[in-house]
Amino acid sequence: MTALREKILVIEDEKDLVRLIRYNLEKEKFRVVSAGDAESGLVLARKAKPDLIILDIMLPKMDGLDFLRNFRKESQVPVVLLTAKRSELDRILGLKLGADDYVVKPFSVGELHARVEALLRRSNGQVNVDGKKPVLVGAIEVDFERHEVKVKGKATSLTPKEFELLRLLIEAKGKVLSRDQLLERIWGHGKDMEIDTRTVDQHIARLRHKLKAEATRISTVTNFGYQIKMN
Ligand code: CA
Repeated sequence: MTALREKILVIEDEKDLVRLIRYNLEKEKFRVVSAGDAESGLVLARKAKPDLIILDIMLPKMDGLDFLRNFRKESQVPVVLLTAKRSELDRILGLKLGADDYVVKPFSVGELHARVEALLRRSNGQVNVDGKKPVLVGAIEVDFERHEVKVKGKATSLTPKEFELLRLLIEAKGKVLSRDQLLERIWGHGKDMEIDTRTVDQHIARLRHKLKAEATRISTVTNFGYQIKMN
């Protein structure tokens, strides 16, 4: 018998989406509670004490960002934002307000699950990438909380996608990630006409360029994917 895993609170007013998320997380043995609006979500968060919250931005009455603003005054439980808007403003605002990660709708349940697992690992301290202090990989210093990257002490500016790529590679701790996996986790729709695995290659190329002397730390596994050399 497998023991039940962490408790996750889903705050989302789209019932079908809640059902889908619940079904998939319960399949992975998570305990799932849900609320259809921010007010009852706040009550439930205090009562049920979840280990992680999946929070939609677009909610009736109080929206997800207002929820987060209030909630962060009392708790540091990891929050994954669901957003329907691709605008950077929402993302950055959300992260500044204390969201730990986000996925853009439409997302695959696989992508959401991966984010949930990564965040829980971080908050359980099993991975170095705890978001609180910068992580050092060779001469690359990554501050996950502030979304800042330095190479040999010099700041380099990454786009959100490049940052996500670097984050996933570091979280994998040297394990090879396939281009499909990266595509799925970062862009979330591998079957899209305009975005294919070449997009991953292009972003890796730009990321390497920005990592300068540390570029060779990211290696290509021919016809498969990428990995990062951790030490
Ligand atoms: Ca909604």
